[in-house]
Amino acid sequence: MGKIIRLDEVTINQIAAGEVVERPSSVVKELVENAIDAGAKRIEIYLTNGGRQKIQVVDDGAGMEREDAILAIERHTTSKIREFTDLLNSNTLGFRGEALASIAAVSRLTLQTAVDPGVPGTKIRVEGGVLQTVEPVGAPRGTNICVENLFFNTPARLKFMRSIPSEVANVKEIVTSLALGYPEISFRLLHHEMKLVHTLGTGDSKQTLEQIFSPAICQELFPVAGAYGPLRITGFLGRPNIARGNRGQQYFYLNRRFFRSRLVAAAAERAYDTLLPVARFPFLLLNLELPPELVDVNVHPTKMEVKFRDEKEVFRGIVHIIREALAAHVVTSPWRTPYKPPAVFRREQPAAVPGKGEEAATGLETATTTSAPAQVKEASLPFAPGPPPAPAPTAGEGVAEPAAAQEVDGARVFTLFDTYLLWEEADALVLVDQHAAHERILYDRLRSGPAAMMQHFLAPLTIELTPTQLQTIQEEGERLRGLGWEFEAFGGEAIILRSGPQGFSAAEVEDLFLSLLNELGATGEARQVDPQERLLRLMACRQAVKAGDRLAPQEAVALIRDLRRTKVPQTCPHGRPTMVAINRTELEKMFQRR
Ligand code: ADP
Ligand code: MG
Repeated sequence: MGKIIRLDEVTINQIAAGEVVERPSSVVKELVENAIDAGAKRIEIYLTNGGRQKIQVVDDGAGMEREDAILAIERHTTSKIREFTDLLNSNTLGFRGEALASIAAVSRLTLQTAVDPGVPGTKIRVEGGVLQTVEPVGAPRGTNICVENLFFNTPARLKFMRSIPSEVANVKEIVTSLALGYPEISFRLLHHEMKLVHTLGTGDSKQTLEQIFSPAICQELFPVAGAYGPLRITGFLGRPNIARGNRGQQYFYLNRRFFRSRLVAAAAERAYDTLLPVARFPFLLLNLELPPELVDVNVHPTKMEVKFRDEKEVFRGIVHIIREALAAHVVTSPWRTPYKPPAVFRREQPAAVPGKGEEAATGLETATTTSAPAQVKEASLPFAPGPPPAPAPTAGEGVAEPAAAQEVDGARVFTLFDTYLLWEEADALVLVDQHAAHERILYDRLRSGPAAMMQHFLAPLTIELTPTQLQTIQEEGERLRGLGWEFEAFGGEAIILRSGPQGFSAAEVEDLFLSLLNELGATGEARQVDPQERLLRLMACRQAVKAGDRLAPQEAVALIRDLRRTKVPQTCPHGRPTMVAINRTELEKMFQRR
């Protein structure tokens, strides 16, 4: 008695019909998923000409009896469910019973399968959906399906195939996603002689990642594991420095099934928050587990989408779990954006070398003093709470500062180009961008209480607005009031501004206020970020010291100390690095010591 039965008509109609076979990668996906469902431990995929000429999938799974094999290539035949309600409890990847039939209908398909090595297996040939031959064959346990001349009988579909490299890349992505989801199965993908994927099936996710991605990526991954209500997540996250301009490095699994989801991506990106700039996307490998009754798996089986019963809770859970992992492995860790050496080390003009002895202490500062003395602008830092700044030096010109005033944890701090602060820390040279660092400090303060950084003007400012700005202020003015700006209508298109941030000239205040209005009225890509956030970022940016502002040594030290106390010291509110570390090994490489 075979395992396969014919589904009844009602069930057939209940299961959404859809296009199963679009291109070589969809064939690979269906065949490999069948192999996984059959309990294979090793799956090999061979492509010829990007799969147009040949796609072969060989597995060592359970195989099929003769009658089952014949039934399998007919439409709506499956061993995996009996009726629609089974779908909800189905833990197999396939269940619609139409993949093999669809593939066989548009190709020349050969299926060899054996259940038991002692008993002869079965070899079936189908052409354009028409059964050609069924014969016994000596074959190892498992199934070997060879799909040749895909779409040979449907020229219209043939035309939609992309270039060979594009089809190969697609297949590689599918196999990669499945291999990452099934670390206990060994996957091997070859295009002609070229090995594209090879995992060993050790069952260890970390090892599987290492078998797929380069060491440069793997060393920037760290584990995530946590629970939130019924949701459990395990997996790996990438540090900000391996983020990319697209979501190509994101792999999501729900109850072990690979899926795509804007919701999961958006929640994860929310958790990264200011660790990443807009339009940079993190590396994510996330295994979500949820009780099946909280998920609708049957939304779009081929599109690999999922519908969560309670999307808000799932979103919150993902943010929470990922935020905790990031806090532990990035934010509160000694991690700093590592210096990334250029592929080819370029020989450049030697930089100015600081003098010896006394001068060496402030040597780099001295070196730039001569290059651009005219533009030096005194920086006034609104270092609000924090420790009071060290008293201004009373000693005469040219006398060295007391060393303590210029040290962070005993390491001397230097300034470079009036833009960067440099010191030694944990076997590395750390460079801080003074503007980015100050932005982060101010942003944190603005978030915890903007009012403390605002002041009432002795003489209120009258500002003329454009009609668009006037409209924005009518619609969104409350957001500005929430940040401590006080203003009222003055008749016509003018307003009176009664308060604004400290330490600004009237012209600067007006300029900032108008920029905030324009930011609130902005459209396009800027809209991806919450308006309140954009205001905070803009205010922090405007108030922060600029590149080129000269910092007194004690200001530089205070800046670093304050930066370390912030919630996310590694990046500025726009997600750019505040600090870059060049470790000792890297320096040794540059000087060819190793
Ligand atoms: P589905 O996977 O949705 O059940 P398919 O058309 O993909 O439908 O496959 C039909 C049936 O053929 C499966 O239910 C399974 O019993 C059998 N089958 C397909 N591929 C394999 C395989 N590689 N090893 C064992 N059985 C297979
Ligand atoms: Mg299937």
